[in-house]
Order: sequence, then C-alpha cells, then structure tokens
Amino acid sequence: MHVPSPLPLSKRQPTGRTTNEEVRQQNLASVLQLVHVDGPQSRSAIGTATGLNRSTVTGLVTELTELGLAVETSTAPTGRVGRPSLGVAADDAVAALSVRAEPDAVTVSLVGLAGTVHSRVRHDLAGAPSPRRFAQITSSLVDGMRADIDRHYRLVGAGVAIPGLVDEAGTVLVAPPLRWKREHIASRLSSALGMPVAAANDASVGAMAEARFGMGRGIENMLYMAGSTTGIGGGLIFDGTLLRGTSGFAGELGHAVVNPGGTKCTCGRRGCLEAELNPHRVLDLLGRRNLDEDELDIELGVVRNPAVIAEVARQVDVLSIALTNFVNAFAPEVVVLSGYLGVLLATSRERLSNAVRVEPVGADGRSVRLERAHMRSHLMQIAPAELAFAPLLADPAARAPRRAGH
Ligand SMILES: [Zn+2]
Repeated sequence: MHVPSPLPLSKRQPTGRTTNEEVRQQNLASVLQLVHVDGPQSRSAIGTATGLNRSTVTGLVTELTELGLAVETSTAPTGRVGRPSLGVAADDAVAALSVRAEPDAVTVSLVGLAGTVHSRVRHDLAGAPSPRRFAQITSSLVDGMRADIDRHYRLVGAGVAIPGLVDEAGTVLVAPPLRWKREHIASRLSSALGMPVAAANDASVGAMAEARFGMGRGIENMLYMAGSTTGIGGGLIFDGTLLRGTSGFAGELGHAVVNPGGTKCTCGRRGCLEAELNPHRVLDLLGRRNLDEDELDIELGVVRNPAVIAEVARQVDVLSIALTNFVNAFAPEVVVLSGYLGVLLATSRERLSNAVRVEPVGADGRSVRLERAHMRSHLMQIAPAELAFAPLLADPAARAPRRAGH
C-alpha cells in the first residue's frame, strides 16, 4: 500500500510509486539502516557497503538529512591519517521509547536512532503489575520525560519487551512471570501513550539486537540464550532472520527438559531448563534480593562460600547439558549467552566451551563459538526500541517523524 508522505521531499512523486521510486525508497532505507546499525560512515564507505555510486549516495544522504533522519558528522573514520572527511550519522534526536515489563519493575528508556540512551527511568514494584497498572506506570514515567522529549526529540513510538509469548499483533498470549494471559498490550499501551506501540518477547528482541549490534554481527546462524530471574528465553537467527516457527514462538528453549523428575516448572512439567537454572537460588545463598548482571559478576568473582560455589557448579552442569543438545540440534556458528547465562559463562568458560565443542552429528568437524552477549546490561535498554524503529528503517520517507513547526 502506498502511504503518501507529508514531507516536502516526496511531494513530486506520482500517485502510484514507479519502479524507480521504489528503488529509491529501498536505497534510502539501506543507507539509513547502515548508519543506524554500523554508526557514522563516510560517503565513500556508504558507497562501498551499498554498491551505489557517489552521486546517488550524495542524493540519498541529502534526502535523509532533509527528512531529519541523518546528520553530518566530522568524526567518521577515514582510514587515512590526516584526512578528516565529513561523515553521515543517524540523527539521535529521532528517538523511541524502550519499555521493559518485569515482575519487579517497569523500565522506560529513551533511545536515539544512533543508539544513545538519552535517559532511563525505573519504577520498582513489590509484585507483578496487572496490564492496566503496567500501562498506568509506563504512562506516568513517560509523562515525567515529556518536557525533555518535546524540547529535544522526535518520537517514532515505543517498543515493549515482555517475558512471555507475544504474537505479531502485540498481543501477549501468556506471560507467566507477569501472570498475564490474552492481553492486547500493544494496543492498550498505544492508547495510554498516544503513539504507535509494538511488543515482542524479550528474548526475541534481545536476539535481534545482539545479531544487529553485538556478537552476532556478520553471523548467519546464531543461537542466543538469555537468562534472568523471570526465566530463560532464546532466539535462533537463521540465515540472518529470527526464526519464528510455525506458531511464531520458536526459541522457547527455557522449557527444554534437562532433568526429568527435577524441579517443578511454571509450565507444569518437571526439570525444565529454567526451573533447574535460576539466579534466585544463587541470590538466596548470597543473601541478596536482586543484583544486576554486572553486580552479580563481581559477587561471583570473589565468592568463597562453598554452598554458592557448589550451586553455581550445578547450574553450569545443567547449562552444559542444554547447550550440548541445542548445538547438536541447530548447529549454529556461534552461541551467545546473555544476562544470567553470561554470568555463568564468565565463571566457567572452559567447562561450557567443552560442552559446545561437541561436533554436530554429521558435520565436518567445524567448531562452534561460545560468546558472552556483547552489550551486557545495555542490550535490553536499547533492544526494545528496535521494534519501534523498524517501520521507519523500512520506509524512511513515509515514516520520518515531523519536526516541530512542520
Ligand atoms: Zn517448563
């Protein structure tokens, strides 16, 4: 469907898009995606990456600048000493809200198109919020940011990461940590905030961001697994695309059974990965209520308590079993462990590396890399914003947010 752009640059296009116009829009999207993902680029680097000639690149950069989506920068790497050249960057004044719904907190970050986290606010909770309460809290957090947003930024919308199963329409089918079921959270929040809202599973969102900005860059096949107090989720990136499966929920790896007859899981079965491997057990032994990934790294780096060491070792063994199975099943090039699983990797890299070194059945002995998520705590601050940026990145001219006075 053709959506006429309200912006001046597109006014001369005919009522239906010509093939040339479609190509131009596609090129515009490619250049914006490039600077969004890879950071500031010189025009010649853009030309090399996109295969477009110099004058085409110049025209596209001009259009992106006039749309308010890109800015000139003097910091682009030139690759040649003493030759500073003007570069092109995504405009960080174009921003999206990145929202996380968790049982113990609602967090809202304001994220720029160039990846800067402009601000972040967190509302701690004593218990899981109802969907209505979640929308109210998010709305009041955003109200607190509103003056700053109106003065400095142009918002494209909000993206929400949910610890549960979410369909493409942004409906939560089930989110056990939040005790939500059949909840149209994207439309509820969209009404509350008065802007477009997209929602998705938190691990899927993390997997896409890690593939785009982190350890998965340039990798075709990646298995991403994230652990937290709310459970374990995962995402499979195959041929550069997040695998959704027929139901749309591929990558629910937390419910792989690793210990039949083990601990009862929220899903009703026993011995699921996320029931056997949970930071709560370690936190309880440490006598701490909640620690973020960086804090837990430090605690476990110096821990001398034998009970904690034994529990960590047990969980590492459980993770080894799961990784061996997943690597055999999916044969990824790299396995990226995020959140709590990244903490476990840091404590026991050799043990876990040995587990994934198992050669996939029938494969020609290629090795699988095991990596910790690149962006650590930062990942889930910026990742949900990608949901909100997606329409803009796909069609910049049609989706560019208007500037004040336009
Ligand atoms: Zn389960």
